[in-house]
Amino acid sequence: MNVAELDRGTREALLERVRFYRDLGLTEFYRRAVNPALLEKLDAAQRAEAATPLLVPGSALTPESTEEIEIARRKPIVVPPAPASAPPANRAGALQILREEIGDCTRCPLHKGRNKLVFADGDPNARLMFVGEGPGADEDAQGLPFVGRAGQLLNNMIAAMGLKREEVYIANVVKCRPPGNRTPEPEEANTCSPFLFRQIDIVRPQVLVALGATAATYLLGTKQPLAGLRGRVHAVRGTQLIVTYHPAYLLRDPRQKKEAWADLQIAMKELGLKPPAR
Ligand code: SF4
Repeated sequence: MNVAELDRGTREALLERVRFYRDLGLTEFYRRAVNPALLEKLDAAQRAEAATPLLVPGSALTPESTEEIEIARRKPIVVPPAPASAPPANRAGALQILREEIGDCTRCPLHKGRNKLVFADGDPNARLMFVGEGPGADEDAQGLPFVGRAGQLLNNMIAAMGLKREEVYIANVVKCRPPGNRTPEPEEANTCSPFLFRQIDIVRPQVLVALGATAATYLLGTKQPLAGLRGRVHAVRGTQLIVTYHPAYLLRDPRQKKEAWADLQIAMKELGLKPPAR
């Protein structure tokens, strides 16, 4: 079927995926699938949109200089010890109990501005878990993590790894949207992140991927810039942790997608995954 015959939503999703593969340097696939002139036209519209200041989740994150790391330097990062016991046999049930315990949470000031608390999405038995910073506007409206433009890019990253979104588990450091999508304050992140640690301890994925500096900071309990944490495997709570860029940052600077792909390939190696044939 010609791309032009597809409905608009399907066409946009396909083109977004093709852009992602092209940005990774996997050009043969998109040249076969899509007219490059059409893609270039859509990219020009996307560049114009990107030039407009936009508040998106993680948009304040830059790899070298981050406001949240400056804030974290002044505040302790609380990382509770990992349990010595094995994960529960019924992970879905344990997560449900945790969700009920969180309830209609008012433990930190972020509850004041939320519409929906964003607990998580995905397979409780996943071997791979992604951790982001916090919900944005789309996530706050739907009650699910990574459902906006950054979520579409994350879906493409997952597909490039040969997986489906339903096969991984996705959560954030904080479960309620910070006002204006600002970085969570340390007291907010320190109040909420124990829930994330418990999710990790229940799912006990083989590999964790920290998306952006905030996730890396609170998962590792370290205050290093992202650049110093990428490109290697860390040990966290009995799992292997890979650090990469937040998809919202990749939307702002698509040149870094190749770097992110290199990070994901480290995760794939740990999981024994090969990229799907195109
Ligand atoms: Fe509770 Fe976390 Fe929401 Fe704060 S961000 S109100 S700790 S669920």
